[in-house]
Amino acid sequence: MISDPGKFLASFVAQRLEMGETEWFFLPRLSFNRESGTARNGAPHREASRKTPVEPKKTTAEITCCTPECTSGEAVSAGNSLEDLREAVEKCLRCPLGGSRTHFVFGSGNPHAHIMFVGEAPGAEEDQQGLPFVGRAGQLLTRMIESIKLRREDVYITNVLKCRPPGNRDPLPAEIEKCEPILIRQIELIRPRIICALGRIAGQTLLRTTATLGALRGKVHDYHGVKLVVTYHPAALLRNSQWKRPTWEDLKFLRREYDGMEIS
Ligand code: URA
Repeated sequence: MISDPGKFLASFVAQRLEMGETEWFFLPRLSFNRESGTARNGAPHREASRKTPVEPKKTTAEITCCTPECTSGEAVSAGNSLEDLREAVEKCLRCPLGGSRTHFVFGSGNPHAHIMFVGEAPGAEEDQQGLPFVGRAGQLLTRMIESIKLRREDVYITNVLKCRPPGNRDPLPAEIEKCEPILIRQIELIRPRIICALGRIAGQTLLRTTATLGALRGKVHDYHGVKLVVTYHPAALLRNSQWKRPTWEDLKFLRREYDGMEIS
């Protein structure tokens, strides 16, 4: 129960501004009459007025991967290099996020990286620039990478979702299902030795688990044959500085795992 809604809202807005977000979507919580299908203010309620669940309107583009010739999924397996893959998928409309994005955020960094960082989904700044982790959380990620004696250009950075969910809400299972083949193909092409999942959502999504972040940290997991470790999302660190110390432990763990590998 929120005891002081004003204070709660002020701190919510302050946190979000700190993370570089400048727009928010609030869903009105209206009570509505199931019989009449009207909301309290008399307006027909969006949910109640639907007779059957509304599927997003399917156009040819939506049921194909990106081009009218391409049947779902083909473009993903077609890419023989990261650039081919990017070209094949960057107009993707396989889920409704394709219609609301400004830019498709494919990923950036060394195409032969040994270490890959995977976040959740682009935020507002990333959507504007078409590059992953370029806002405040991204600047912190750069410092995290540098703290283990790597440079941002040495590693590859991408997200589970390539398009921004409205209001930065959590990715939906259907969006992940549509988008994850691109990530899997990126991993096949880059062939990193180790992946670092940033945050609970990335960790749970990639590992198909509901385990807590606490349970996922400090272990080496397997993701399609590649080692994977999980740590806090940099945006979470901006909100909770007490997580910086455990993140530093996770980064040292990542570095030790990497240093212990035979790299040919
Ligand atoms: N948060 C993410 O998970 N990814 C980004 O690219 C930016 C913020």
